Amino acid sequence: MPEPTIFKKIIDGEIPADIVYEDDQCLAFRDVNPQAPVHILVIPRKEIASLAETDDGDQMLLGHMMLVIRKLAAEMGLTNGFRVVANTGVDGGQTVNHLHFHLLGQRNLEWPPG
Ligand code: C5P
Repeated sequence: MPEPTIFKKIIDGEIPADIVYEDDQCLAFRDVNPQAPVHILVIPRKEIASLAETDDGDQMLLGHMMLVIRKLAAEMGLTNGFRVVANTGVDGGQTVNHLHFHLLGQRNLEWPPG
């Protein structure tokens, strides 16, 4: 068995996280190294390594996570806009191999990212 990722340990309650939302499919918590005043990670409870490892059966889950992100953005007062990022694989800069969406907001974000 591969070593569980840090996010799997958060799901299992083995390490703490500042959880802002959870349901039977996903949870959301504040990033420990925030890159914006609001920086939340939304992750599925299901162990999926990255967006590249999803399949057609994950359609409902992925849609659900997007709607959770929309609701969190509204709750956090991100009325002026926000950014959703899924770093994927080595070239995408992914460091934790459990699918996650970054929700970033409350500052003017530049484009393109580095
Ligand atoms: O997209 P990427 O894989 O680089 O993002 C992983 C994110 O997980 C980082 O922003 C990092 O700060 C965050 N992290 C966290 N809590 C941990 C470990 C990593 O919020 N315990």
